[in-house]
Amino acid sequence: MKLFEQTIHQLRDLLDNRDISSVELTNDILKRIDAVEDKVGAYITQNRQQALEQAAAADKMLAAGEGRPLCGIPLAIKDVMCTKGVRTTCGSRILETFVPPYDATVVRKLKEQGTPLLGKASMDEFAMGSSNENCAYGVPKNPWNTAYICGGSSGGSAAAVAAGECVASLGSDTGGSVRQPASHCGVVGLKPTYGRVSRFGLLAFASSLDQIGPLTRDVRDSALMLNAIAGYDPRDSTSVQADVPDYTKSLTEGMAGLKIGIPAEYFAAGLAPEVKAAVDKGIAALLAAGAEAVEVSLPHTEYGVAAYYIIAPAEASSNLARYDGVKYGYRNLEADNLADMYKTSRSRGFGPEVKRRILIGTYALSSGYYDAYYKKASQVRTLIMEDYKTAFAACDLLVSPVTPNPAWQLGSKLSDPLSMYLSDALTICNNLAGLPGISVPCGFSPDGLPIGLQIQAPHFREETMFQAAYNLELGLGISNKRPDLG
Ligand code: GLN
Repeated sequence: MKLFEQTIHQLRDLLDNRDISSVELTNDILKRIDAVEDKVGAYITQNRQQALEQAAAADKMLAAGEGRPLCGIPLAIKDVMCTKGVRTTCGSRILETFVPPYDATVVRKLKEQGTPLLGKASMDEFAMGSSNENCAYGVPKNPWNTAYICGGSSGGSAAAVAAGECVASLGSDTGGSVRQPASHCGVVGLKPTYGRVSRFGLLAFASSLDQIGPLTRDVRDSALMLNAIAGYDPRDSTSVQADVPDYTKSLTEGMAGLKIGIPAEYFAAGLAPEVKAAVDKGIAALLAAGAEAVEVSLPHTEYGVAAYYIIAPAEASSNLARYDGVKYGYRNLEADNLADMYKTSRSRGFGPEVKRRILIGTYALSSGYYDAYYKKASQVRTLIMEDYKTAFAACDLLVSPVTPNPAWQLGSKLSDPLSMYLSDALTICNNLAGLPGISVPCGFSPDGLPIGLQIQAPHFREETMFQAAYNLELGLGISNKRPDLG
């Protein structure tokens, strides 16, 4: 296997044994970026010089015996997280020139470990989208077949890991944006429990749903990344004061005594047969590892998309009010009065999907409609949480597909936002309830496109989730497959 295709833990051994240096590794990945980035388009901004300097510093840390678990491992960061001194666009024209004066907490934590940061990964504008086609700086492609979408909104983060353009990356998940692109690109995507990882320095989309999570080549790497970024942060009042276990300890063989719930609603009409076949194989692998299957029901799942597409835009319409041409980013300098300056800066700076969400959200929150939309959606959210409580009384984990279909062809859903929204049907309820979820590769479509299996767990039960994910990976033996980009 080539250097740029290896996992964090494989590279850890090579770095610790001085078989390679971090500078060599970083240069190797930069070469890979030069070779394939034209085809893939995973990055909005590359940070090459600084990454090499960080790699040199990592080599010094390693030589001094100060190396932490991620020391020297080159990573990519979704362009929604603040990076001090490095442009952070959120995929939007309105932030084309925004250079944050501080690091997001997750970025700070990674830097403290000595990780070179290769650049800022492509994303749907303000993380709104499921295909990464709503990006003001070009559309990344699926490394397994570049005529297909890589998924969204953390599409660049997933594509970069799959294509060998970084070792691992961070994404953010508000309604599936880590798990769905991970599923489409054949990598592992983890959405931690709401509150597990600090959101300080994450540009807010929907604050009650947003959570940062890693995209990696295997489950062990996912556990290593969560170890590094999890934990209480006084700068995020929703981060939870709970100890962070060593998640790699959960990666043990065998699932005896664990019950996996199979929710009927996640296998309903509309599920592509190739997805069902791959997920069924994954379930068989979990059973072979000793798990017991039980049938469960989450009856309000079908209302998840409708509730989410009220709640998320409502929160976004409020969060995005700060981009007014005054405090951050783009300002129309030709406007001759304040109201026009606000109006034209926002209408030129935001793309069409973001404007659509602001309109929907503002409408749903306006007096006279609040009860009918926002309040109703919040009540549905409570019912969805209750569903999970009932289901988790009968099982330890929930197992399902991540998406109803494998990746679709670029452009094929662009004129129909509703069909794009419906593709989120199986990831959204997890965010509404604040639960942890993970997407693990479980097979390929007949066309060679990856398919993921989703595991969901009760709040703060990432350990059980990792155990199942690890056993799935062991049972299926497909985690060493890489796309052929020539
Ligand atoms: N696809 C969903 C949306 O467009 C989820 C996005 C996300 O998780 N950031 O809102």
